[in-house]
Amino acid sequence: MDPARRKLLLGAGAAAGAAAALGACAPSGEGGPAGAGDGRRFSWKMVTSWPQNFPGLGVAARKLAERITATSGGRLSVRVFGGGELVPPFEVFDAVSRGTAEIGHSAAYYWKGKHEAAPFFCSVPFGLNAQEMNGWLWHGGGLELWRELYARFDLVPFPAGNTGVQMAGWFNREITNLADLRGLKMRIPGLGGEVMAKLGVVPVNLPGAEIFTALQSGAIDATEWVGPYNDLAFGLHRVARYCYFPGWQEPGPTLECMIHKPAWDSLPEDLKALVAACCQSINDDMLADYTAQNHRALVALRDEHKVEFRRLPDQVLAALRETSEALLVEIAGRDPFARRVYDAFDAYRREVRAWHAMSEVAFYQARG
Ligand code: CA
Repeated sequence: MDPARRKLLLGAGAAAGAAAALGACAPSGEGGPAGAGDGRRFSWKMVTSWPQNFPGLGVAARKLAERITATSGGRLSVRVFGGGELVPPFEVFDAVSRGTAEIGHSAAYYWKGKHEAAPFFCSVPFGLNAQEMNGWLWHGGGLELWRELYARFDLVPFPAGNTGVQMAGWFNREITNLADLRGLKMRIPGLGGEVMAKLGVVPVNLPGAEIFTALQSGAIDATEWVGPYNDLAFGLHRVARYCYFPGWQEPGPTLECMIHKPAWDSLPEDLKALVAACCQSINDDMLADYTAQNHRALVALRDEHKVEFRRLPDQVLAALRETSEALLVEIAGRDPFARRVYDAFDAYRREVRAWHAMSEVAFYQARG
């Protein structure tokens, strides 16, 4: 068995053990629950790409830290730093890779400069939705590939959140055809930005916390961020008139928890199991949070703030899709590991699309 697969299987077994440990509650003085470790205590710093406690993203990071601290009875205590508090939002990867912090919460598509294949573990344009990402990562071989890639950087990754389908973004001009996109300076990270660049947009990558000011000052003309829940929190409706959907660029981005490999290796097995289980619980919890909050925020944006919601024209979506598919093939051709990831991802996407045409899509259409 190859090492990545072996490690993954160990992690899965450990997660089941942690689920049992979460329910275990032995009185003190009786030796504690089985596998309670060797009594060592750990204190970790968590760096994130989000403002401290920012709805959805920052809250998930905080909850993850609190769950690990609480369920370990304080044996592993995790302190959260918002983006820029200990390191800048886009230096989370390097900080955890170096061990400046033991743990981080971010999004793999920010690290496409580290490796071409990184965005596949978060979101690629016209890729997978949240449910499909979970299927690929946990039961379709995706997480094994992700662990293989991050091992090069001394990192151990876990899926730890998903926003669900995002919105295409905020504009101050109507988008009626491709020509309306040309020349726009737009905040859009990951491969979505590369696709936009091929269609004449000037893509900019900014941390979330800088978007409002950039749009207000005219440093950028348009932006995508997440969806109603998060966009309302940043007040993007105050600096842009139109909000477009669907979020072709991020159909179900997986957020990541990454751990410095030597820190991970230093943990006793029961704490490893507990961290794995906490990540998986946050992965579910964040999607539930977004699902519950997005529609409430949508009503507020539409009815109170009079935002004009528009669907991107079919012609524009078709051009985005064609350009996206060509970009993914181009990336696969540039690097052998990226080729492996693309092939695995694309095969899974084809299969799951056939199933979801008869299940999710057919149901949504039938429900109306
Ligand atoms: Ca986004």
